[in-house]
Amino acid sequence: MSKRTCIFCGDQPAEKTREHVLPQWLIRRTGDPARTVVMSYDLRSMEPRRFAWSQLVMPACGSCNNKYSCLEANTSAIFDKMEARSDLIVSEALTLLDWLDKVRVGLWLSQIILTGNPANIAPKFAITNRISTKDRMVLVYPMSDTRRGLSPYGIETLTFHHHPSVFGLRVNNLIIINASADHLFGASCGFHAPTKLTHHLDGKKAGLLEGSGFTMTRKPSYPLMPSVFPKPSIRVFQTIFQRGLDGRLPLVIEQNESYHLKHIADRSTGKFVPFVESSKKVTPIFDPSCTIKFEAIEREESSTAGLILAAMYEYQADVYQALDFRADAADHNERARALQAELVAQSRLFAAHYRSRT
Ligand SMILES: [Zn+2]
Repeated sequence: MSKRTCIFCGDQPAEKTREHVLPQWLIRRTGDPARTVVMSYDLRSMEPRRFAWSQLVMPACGSCNNKYSCLEANTSAIFDKMEARSDLIVSEALTLLDWLDKVRVGLWLSQIILTGNPANIAPKFAITNRISTKDRMVLVYPMSDTRRGLSPYGIETLTFHHHPSVFGLRVNNLIIINASADHLFGASCGFHAPTKLTHHLDGKKAGLLEGSGFTMTRKPSYPLMPSVFPKPSIRVFQTIFQRGLDGRLPLVIEQNESYHLKHIADRSTGKFVPFVESSKKVTPIFDPSCTIKFEAIEREESSTAGLILAAMYEYQADVYQALDFRADAADHNERARALQAELVAQSRLFAAHYRSRT
């Protein structure tokens, strides 16, 4: 990734266009398009970094850029409904998850460039090959104040630079929390999934992500939502199986295991039907035209923006802490573990910062 590669396909753009990482409809929706905003915090001083949204652009091929205009238009209509606290249709929640994949990866690639790549990351994916490819969730929180504004959260930490899996977005009177990573919810949705993920850093398996401790409970746990979060109005989870190096989906799919067969939505992509959680239960939704209720939050269940964001940073730390980094060379192993502990501590520091704001 460089200042010259397309944010969507990761190649050199043939006819170069500019893509707004946070789309212009969203910038207009949330205030004066020319305004400057706090984009993130300086990691050392915790001083806010100010930025004009209109400047947040990345290179893109014209053809790549055009592919997403429909996704943007559909998402804008979904924000109309969410800001009005209207129920969503399941297919809209899936569109929102796609859009959050796009925005999360776009923010990650732009942060790497804007901050001078302090973690020395060499991105292995761009937006197009990361949309709809790994387990994911969205939580939607209504805020009671009427403030207009747009702020991303979680993208400034070095944890996010290393593992761009958990972030938050405040859009006017909503806070959206999004997470996506390998095997994040498969086991708790009851599917065949590893309980441990080892990232091999060197040796013969360098770069390989290896799962172990596989389970298959054939029923979703309740709650699916990580316990660190306060109650949201909407919570949707989707498991997506990935193809192995041989290009095949896991054997349980090939073998037509009944629980997987029942819940697979698209065999060609490894996507399962979404699981929607309410205050009482977790339900797999087979019909994309079903309604997801925008649950009311009672006064005693309500939370503050600070506490919701603190939970997001804690979860970002939890997800990264759960990864098992492994190197054959002992000193390499030690360095990797020390770095992991440092990044986890940094995300928790952000959590403490937001908790203390409330
Ligand atoms: Zn491209």
